[in-house]
Amino acid sequence: MSLFNKVYNFKDAEQVRQLGLYPYFRVIESEQNTEVIINGKKVLMLGSNSYLGLTNHPKVKEAAINAIKKYGTGCAGSRFLNGTLDIHIELEEELADFVGKEAAILYSTGFQANQGAIAPLVGRNEYVIIDKLVHASIIEGCRLTLGKMLRFNHNDMESLENKLSSIELERGKLVVVDGVYSMEGDLADLPNIVKIAKKYNAEVMVDDAHGIGVFGTNGRGTCDHFGLTDDVALIMGTFSKSFASLGGFIASSKEIIDYLKHSSRALIFSASMSPANAAAVKASLEILKNEPERIEKLWANTHRLRKGLQELGLDTGNSVSPIIPVQIGTDLDVFKVCMMLLNEGVFVNPVVTPAVEPGKAIIRLSVMATHTFEQIDFALEKIEKVTKQLGVLV
Ligand code: PMP
Repeated sequence: MSLFNKVYNFKDAEQVRQLGLYPYFRVIESEQNTEVIINGKKVLMLGSNSYLGLTNHPKVKEAAINAIKKYGTGCAGSRFLNGTLDIHIELEEELADFVGKEAAILYSTGFQANQGAIAPLVGRNEYVIIDKLVHASIIEGCRLTLGKMLRFNHNDMESLENKLSSIELERGKLVVVDGVYSMEGDLADLPNIVKIAKKYNAEVMVDDAHGIGVFGTNGRGTCDHFGLTDDVALIMGTFSKSFASLGGFIASSKEIIDYLKHSSRALIFSASMSPANAAAVKASLEILKNEPERIEKLWANTHRLRKGLQELGLDTGNSVSPIIPVQIGTDLDVFKVCMMLLNEGVFVNPVVTPAVEPGKAIIRLSVMATHTFEQIDFALEKIEKVTKQLGVLV
């Protein structure tokens, strides 16, 4: 049996390509904005995680350019050795202060932050208990621990309590959830998660990739939104969404951050965030603190789009955030909807099996603060047209 048999037998992508419906790795030929150029044609971007639309903000760009001028383009080493810059330290202090924790540590991606933090925190004979719908990077972190992983049904408190009560009280336990779920756009039931975790002597970690910049005072995230910052031991954030950059962080107590700095392999054995990325985050953070109207506009756009979809009769699930799923049906129908919408000038993301149950495939829309109401209405018109044509809407 050849090692590469699985490669030669892999036909999934090719089948969709042959239908002319392949939706992945699309090439964008322009700046990342509410409109982008694909195949020479302008399309409305409804699939970007740049919730605040800061990737083109002049202050963010200028900060990145100035950082390159001062520090160069890369760090050529990990934070542990030669890769720590003064702007890394400044950014860590600002982020810790922003989310309300004592300290923070930067990682080069959000994926690495989750993977790198969970792995060394959960030791042999200890447990990590995760919501079934958490992000893939959390699952990767769990796989790397020496402890055991248990999964509870999505936002189901009875299921969480069942798992926690099955473990001896004195065993170390870490409950990990997403603040905002990246496919469903719903919020973790943090008040109850924290309450149940306390009852069973478990610590809580929140991946707030989609919550920071969106929920809470000035975008401080879902823990702030619920007033539970002190009850959550670790807050994870990423810079690839509201912060218009690349990288991630963990914020926690001084002791936990110091422990991670000396035990987290994704941190110690990987090069640090580039100066341009760090500077872009610093500039975005300033804008977040000083321009609350951006978040207000994000919410106004979000409400307009969600209400419009619901008025059309489309099912947007339990979404309460700028991530809005629209229930379509089969994987094939989702691929068709994506292609038809693109032809109509609207880019949306497909979410198909195995990410969702068969027959429950969705398109996922992501709203930005910089969308105009005209753009939102244009998208609604095109979504109505396409879903009617396909028979999703009758
Ligand atoms: N957590 C969640 C919930 C995410 O959605 C993502 C990105 N899709 C990540 C972590 C990983 O972040 P990054 O893109 O910075 O690696």
